[in-house]
Amino acid sequence: MARRRCHPHALLLLLLAAALTGAPPGGLYSPGDPLVLLQVDTLESSVLNSSSAWLVEFYASWCGHCVHFASTWRALAADIQEWSPAVNVGVVDCADIANQKTCGKFGITGFPTLKFFKAFSKSPEDGTKIFHPGDSIQNLRQSIITNLEMHKETWPPACPPLEPASVEEIRGFFQTNNVTYLALIFETNDSFLGREVTLDMLQYENVAVRRVLSSEEELVKKYGVTAFPSSFLLINNGTFSRIPVQMEARSFYTHFLRRLPGVTRGPYTPTRAPDTPIKTTPTPRKPADRSKVYMADLESALHYALRVEVARFSVLTGERVRALKDFVAVLAKYFPGRPFVQNFLRSVDRWLRNVRGSRIPYSALKLVLTNRKEVGPPAVLSNNVTWVGCQGSEPHFRGYPCSLWTLFHLLTVQATRHRRLGTDPLEVLGAMRGYVQSFFGCRECAQHFEGMAAESMDKVRSVDEAALWLWSRHNRVNARLAGTETEDPQFPKLQWPPPELCHPCHSVVKRRQVWDEAAVLQFLKAYFSPINIFLNYTEPEMALVVRRSREAKEGAGEWAMGVGMEVGGSERRGFSGPRKPSIVRMNPKMQELEEDIVDLDSFSELHYKSKALKAAAVAANKGRQLSKRDTIPLLLADDSHQAFDYAAAWERLRRRGLGSKQLIGALEEDEGDTLRRSHWFRMLGVGFSRLDVSLCIILYFLSSMCLLGMYTFFRMRTRHRKGRPSFPTA
Ligand code: FAD
Repeated sequence: MARRRCHPHALLLLLLAAALTGAPPGGLYSPGDPLVLLQVDTLESSVLNSSSAWLVEFYASWCGHCVHFASTWRALAADIQEWSPAVNVGVVDCADIANQKTCGKFGITGFPTLKFFKAFSKSPEDGTKIFHPGDSIQNLRQSIITNLEMHKETWPPACPPLEPASVEEIRGFFQTNNVTYLALIFETNDSFLGREVTLDMLQYENVAVRRVLSSEEELVKKYGVTAFPSSFLLINNGTFSRIPVQMEARSFYTHFLRRLPGVTRGPYTPTRAPDTPIKTTPTPRKPADRSKVYMADLESALHYALRVEVARFSVLTGERVRALKDFVAVLAKYFPGRPFVQNFLRSVDRWLRNVRGSRIPYSALKLVLTNRKEVGPPAVLSNNVTWVGCQGSEPHFRGYPCSLWTLFHLLTVQATRHRRLGTDPLEVLGAMRGYVQSFFGCRECAQHFEGMAAESMDKVRSVDEAALWLWSRHNRVNARLAGTETEDPQFPKLQWPPPELCHPCHSVVKRRQVWDEAAVLQFLKAYFSPINIFLNYTEPEMALVVRRSREAKEGAGEWAMGVGMEVGGSERRGFSGPRKPSIVRMNPKMQELEEDIVDLDSFSELHYKSKALKAAAVAANKGRQLSKRDTIPLLLADDSHQAFDYAAAWERLRRRGLGSKQLIGALEEDEGDTLRRSHWFRMLGVGFSRLDVSLCIILYFLSSMCLLGMYTFFRMRTRHRKGRPSFPTA
């Protein structure tokens, strides 16, 4: 972490530090950039009570427009780095889990957000939003000047006066200021040139710069000014002359003034130099197959959408409440999640439906989103953010927006599977549009999407058309972004699906390549079908429930928002190891292509759990009372839940007065048993799985039976022969 100034030694040290730390930081900026990289532990201490003003960009590394904007922001910071005693430029990556709470404290709801903090600002709310029209450095520079001028009592001590000079001030200037030179820049009222040169020269000693407005007739006449802008150099011996420059421009003036004899750079040292090193943990690449959809991406999208994006609003009102209700309703209805995740979505949906009025404080919603209210069957959504299919080659590529698209496509396709007469074809698209408009942090992405939606979404007439509409609009976005800096070089933005994924989707008519929409629809239905969703790297549900209950007991937790997120190099908590693929879940067609590691433990576990489920269902049907020691069978990653009415089983348990506490107790016992059992297996010391040991016991039993059988057979035969007359006897 370093603060800029063009000092060659400082720059060298920075480069050296960057080289020593090795890996590039997770965000869009690096320590070599001429700006301050702020984070949770340096943001407030730098920006608040500072003797200089601050201009801070709050960005999210996954946000396409932040990626576009980064070069402008970097160039702006380089352009005004000489102004640093008066105004500093900083950046905060709000996608980094460590910074999320702080960004919330600063009221950040979308990205990129630019905030100006006057010198000696007292609280995060004191920041003023700066609107950045287009990508113009000049506009941003001028906006900084306008904001600097708004300081009243708390003028940054190092900042020279920016207001126009009066005749009186110029007349007595050398009596009151101990400098050799005074540069007067004559300009019109709307020109920023004089103020820019004043700030450019603020670190230089023995020279001062003042702007004089064209309306200051006495001075204009005295110096014979005929054109605006133009500039005059006054020397403390009473002489003056026009500054000889080829062009009346900022860089020409500053170049001339810095080379005047006796003008030197002052000994300015930054008042605050945040020196916390940037934490970077390179995320190991997870092997992913482009023909598959990964549940880890989908669950990460759910977590990020509901617990991070929505959490940016301390109170949800009006349109946002409606958008959230619609979005969660669609998720609860169509998301083909694991049972506990489905329960989670249903419980949030139920809660939202019961909300009266159009105002929800996030603190209330948070209790439901973190499942700290016991409102039904066990419901958990992991708070890990793990990108598998959406993992980019760099931390700022892909991730959340990729997973959000995947989630949206999945929902539109799921709606085609559940179609009923009278289903609103816009149900999913409308909910998605509302979510993007109200919550999607990349605000310019949201605007673009809204433009497309307003243009043609209402023409959609069926659920099939809805799935195709989203597919074609996504391809439009892909075409717009192809080749830009948001494109991950290892995942080029293609017109999707490419022929290698779906050959029949492409056809040629009159030598032109066209889409076969019927084939595309068929492909979308297969690609985004539950059978093509893989569980690699998801956290097992049972582990989630147990961890959550343990954390709640220990008081550790806040089932914290975003804990374990990988973005920005933060540590992942809990089950950090990859979940081996389970053979139960694999699509039979794709199975041969899958890695040949098979998790026998999880297979046997699933097998027995699914048996237990069925047994529980049969027992329940027979009306057998479940005792307090009965456990609720758990599903980890199995399709068998479709055959078993999980919610009904829960309801039966609830009617008998058993709640999720018993369930969690039972789960812990279950986990304890598992641990005890695995202890025995570990004692064998050779790493056999439970299935291996079971097979050994069965084989042992069978071979004993076989030996016994042989023994009995020969014994009987001997006896039989002994009884016969021809049998030779001794
Ligand atoms: P993505 O485009 O995110 O695609 C994710 C996955 O979906 C792909 O890996 C592929 O498997 C599948 N897929 C790709 N195309 C299709 C398709 N046509 N139909 C079905 N599935 C497909 N970024 C910007 O810079 N500017 C924007 O204006 C912008 N607008 C956005 C609007 C929305 C609503 C969203 C969700 C994101 C937007 N983004 C925007 C982000 C951008 O579209 C990408 O999501 C991001 O750059 C990551 O790209 P990716 O390579 O991971 O693939």
